[in-house]
Amino acid sequence: MILLPPAEHYKSSSGVDIYRISMMLFPNGFVGHAYVLDGAGVLTLVDTGSGMGSSNDDLLDGFQQLRDRFGVSFSLRDIRRVIITHGHLDHFGGLAFVKQHADAEVGIHELDRRVLTDYEERVIVATKALGIYFDRAGIQPELRETLFEMYGFAKKHLTSIDVDLNIADEQVIDGMEFIHTPGHCPGQVCIRLGNVLLSADHVLSRATPHQSPESITHYMGLDHYADSLRKLLRYEGIELALGGHEDPIHDLYGRVHAIRASHNRKLDRIRKIMRDNGAPMTISQISAAMYPDVKDYHILLALEEAGAHIEYLYQHGHLSIANLEEYERDANPAILYALHE
Ligand SMILES: [Zn+2]
Ligand SMILES: [Zn+2]
Repeated sequence: MILLPPAEHYKSSSGVDIYRISMMLFPNGFVGHAYVLDGAGVLTLVDTGSGMGSSNDDLLDGFQQLRDRFGVSFSLRDIRRVIITHGHLDHFGGLAFVKQHADAEVGIHELDRRVLTDYEERVIVATKALGIYFDRAGIQPELRETLFEMYGFAKKHLTSIDVDLNIADEQVIDGMEFIHTPGHCPGQVCIRLGNVLLSADHVLSRATPHQSPESITHYMGLDHYADSLRKLLRYEGIELALGGHEDPIHDLYGRVHAIRASHNRKLDRIRKIMRDNGAPMTISQISAAMYPDVKDYHILLALEEAGAHIEYLYQHGHLSIANLEEYERDANPAILYALHE
């Protein structure tokens, strides 16, 4: 059994009390954090967990821990504002539960707003785009069906929810400075509070945040992500970064450089795989060579991760399409990429 980290307390140089609550987001042991901000206007909750498995109970238990360990007097029903850092299920899936308990306004960056307000439409649009991507990536029909089943499964229990507050880049609300950092998700925001940055899924302490091609969703992709990493370097004086998962980051700038280096290594690895293969390859083939041991949902994540890097190489002139005639003739043929050296 995986033990959740206990609730934690941090204080920003701007005087905001930041409380971290950890939740089991998926039953497979995937842990994430919500943050309660006391001192940035009304009592604010940043992210809500997934709403699945024990996530909602863990959130309630987290508030109990805050009362027991730090002597706060508030509970979930005192929350008056919820900020969703980005439109991923593990961050907003618990929003309906939170709204049942608390009379709170909801804020999200405008590029992820539709994920909340038009959820059913968003699932259809995203599924359609993913199908076209699978065709172009050269996925075999049996795997395609399995991937769609896994993709759709977690999304069924949610419905649309109203948004009250549109967040934009560089907006400041009650001392929360929003920084739009697209890449991992189109509407990904980080929140700066004095010397503390809530880095959400833009920067994590151990994992390099998941990437997916912009050809599936606008404002994702490695180019946007790299720009957003560079953008953070312009914000000086951040001494602590608190992510949506994993551990606090004490050297944000060092971590940003390490993540950039990790993506450069992946780009090099794709070039080597293609060079060693000696013939044009599909995204599916490159992904299988990069991540030979992945199973289940991780096959989909691997296809997106590899695809984001292949898209980057193509956009930057390192690859070309080897089967252009077929590409012109057919609706969505599997694309064979050749390496330029
Ligand atoms: Zn995410
Ligand atoms: Zn996440």
